[in-house]
Amino acid sequence: MDIKSYFTPDVIGAVYLIAVILFVVGLKQLSHPRTARNGNLLSSLGMLIGIVATLFDKDILRYDVIVAGILLGAVIGTWMAKTVQMTGMPQMVALLNGFGGLASYIVGTSEYFSRQTQLPGDLFNYATVILSIIIGMITFSGSVIAALKLQEVIDGKPILFFGQKTLNALLGIGAFVLSVLIILNIQNGELANAEKMFVGLGVLAFVLGITLVIPIGGADMPVVVSLLNSYSGIAVAMTGFVLSNSALIVVGTLVGASGIILTMIMTKAMNRSLLNVLFGGFGATVSGGGGIAPTGTIKSASPEEAGMILDTAESVIIVPGYGMAVSQAQHVVKKLTEYLQKKGKTVSFAIHPVAGRMPGHMNVLLAEAGVSYDILYDMDQINDQFSNTDVVIIIGANDVVNPAAKTNPQSPIYGMPVLNVEEARTVFMLKRSMNPGFAGIDNELFYKNNTLMVFGDAKKTVEGFLASLEELDK
Ligand code: NDP
Repeated sequence: MDIKSYFTPDVIGAVYLIAVILFVVGLKQLSHPRTARNGNLLSSLGMLIGIVATLFDKDILRYDVIVAGILLGAVIGTWMAKTVQMTGMPQMVALLNGFGGLASYIVGTSEYFSRQTQLPGDLFNYATVILSIIIGMITFSGSVIAALKLQEVIDGKPILFFGQKTLNALLGIGAFVLSVLIILNIQNGELANAEKMFVGLGVLAFVLGITLVIPIGGADMPVVVSLLNSYSGIAVAMTGFVLSNSALIVVGTLVGASGIILTMIMTKAMNRSLLNVLFGGFGATVSGGGGIAPTGTIKSASPEEAGMILDTAESVIIVPGYGMAVSQAQHVVKKLTEYLQKKGKTVSFAIHPVAGRMPGHMNVLLAEAGVSYDILYDMDQINDQFSNTDVVIIIGANDVVNPAAKTNPQSPIYGMPVLNVEEARTVFMLKRSMNPGFAGIDNELFYKNNTLMVFGDAKKTVEGFLASLEELDK
C-alpha cells in the first residue's frame, strides 16, 4: 500500500496540530535567555514535522523540483548564516522577511492561474489570493529596500519628496480598485482582462512597498524590519487560506502577532508612535540633534589610567551598546567581569531595550560569551542604581545613554527612556571618536565633569583595562 494513503487529511491535520503546539511552546520559551535555546529547538522540530507531513500530501505529484529547491535553499541559507557579521543581522532578517513575502506572492500567483476557471464565484478564495499577492509583494520590495538601506548600499536617511503621502494613498486606492475589478472581470468571464490586471496589481504592490519604506530611515529602520516581519507573517497566513493549510494559517498569525508586539515594544522604548515612525521622516532633517549643540571640555584617559580608577571602585555597572557588537568585545568583557568579581567588586550589566541594532542584541552577544544571566538587568530594574555606583563602563553605547532625552525638549529623542549613567561617580565612555550614535545626535554626556572618554576600539580598550588591573596586582 502506498505510504501516502495513510496520510489522510485528518492525519495531516493532527500532525499539523502537533507542529503548531511545538511552535507555541517554542515561542514561549524564546522569551527567556535560559530557555531560548530549547525554544529554538522545539520550534525547529515543529517546522520539520510540518514539512514532512506536507511532503506526504496526496497533491504532491513529483519530488525532484522540491528536493532541488531544498538543496539550493540549504546551501544559500548555510552560506548566509556562516558569513553574516553580527552587525549585519538586521539586514539579513530584512532579506529573509522579503523572501517570505516573495514566496507568498508566488504561491498566490500560481493558485490564481490554476483556479481561475474553477472558482469564478468563490469570492473568499479570490480575496485571500489577492491579499496574499499584495501583502507578499509589499513585504518583498519593502524588505529589499530596508536591507539595502541598512547595508548602506542606498542612503540610510529618510528619502522624502513632495506629495509622497498622496502618492502612497493613491497607490493604496489603486490596489483596492484593481482588486475589485479583477474579481468582477473573473465573474463576467473576462479572464484575459483579469489576467492583465492581476499582473498590474503585482507591479503596483511592488512600487507601494518601495514608496512606503523609502521615507523611513536612521534609527527607525529596525522598527520597520520588525513591522515587515509582521507583514510577512500575515502574507503567510493569507497563503494558508489560499492553500487551505491550517498550519500556515496558525504559524503566519503567530509571526504576524509577535512581529507587531515587538514593533510596539521598540516604538515604546524609543518613545515614538508607530504612525510617527511610518510617516514622521525621523532623521531627515536632524543634524546635531536639535537645540544648542553641547560644548565644554572633554576629559580623556588612557586604558591604563582608567584601569587604576577601576581598581579602586567597589561597584561597577557595564552598559553595552552597538559598538561592543562592532568590536566583538563581548568575550574580553566577560574576562574583565570575572577579574573584577574575583577582586570582590560588584559587577552588573544594564541592558537598554534598544541597545544595538535589534531587540535582544546585547543579550545574545553576552550569552554567546557566557556572561551569567543573573547579573544582567533591564533598564527599569537598574536605572535607580546608578547613583550608588562608583564606575559605569559604557562600551560602544551612545544614544541609549544620551541625557538629551531627558533634558533637551528640542532633541528628536526627547522623552525616550535612557539609562541614568551620568548619576554614577565616574563614567568611562569607550568609543573611537567624538562621532554621534545611530540617531546622529550630539551627546552632552561627553562633556560632563564625571565623564572620562577612553578613545579606541572597545575590545582593545577593555584588554587595556585588564592589563592595567593585572599590572597593579603584581
Ligand atoms: P549607538 O548607535 O547610539 O552608538 C554606538 C556607538 O558605538 C557609536 O557612538 C560609536 O562611536 C561606537 N562604536 C562603534 N564601533 C566601535 C568600536 N569598534 N569600538 C568602540 N566603539 C565603537 O548605539 P546604542 O546601542 O547606544 O543605540 C542603539 C541605536 O539604535 C539607538 O539609536 C536605537 O534607537 C537604535 N535602534 C535600535 C534598535 C534595537 O532594537 N536595538 C531598534 C531600533 C533602533 P565611534 O564611531 O566614535 O566609535
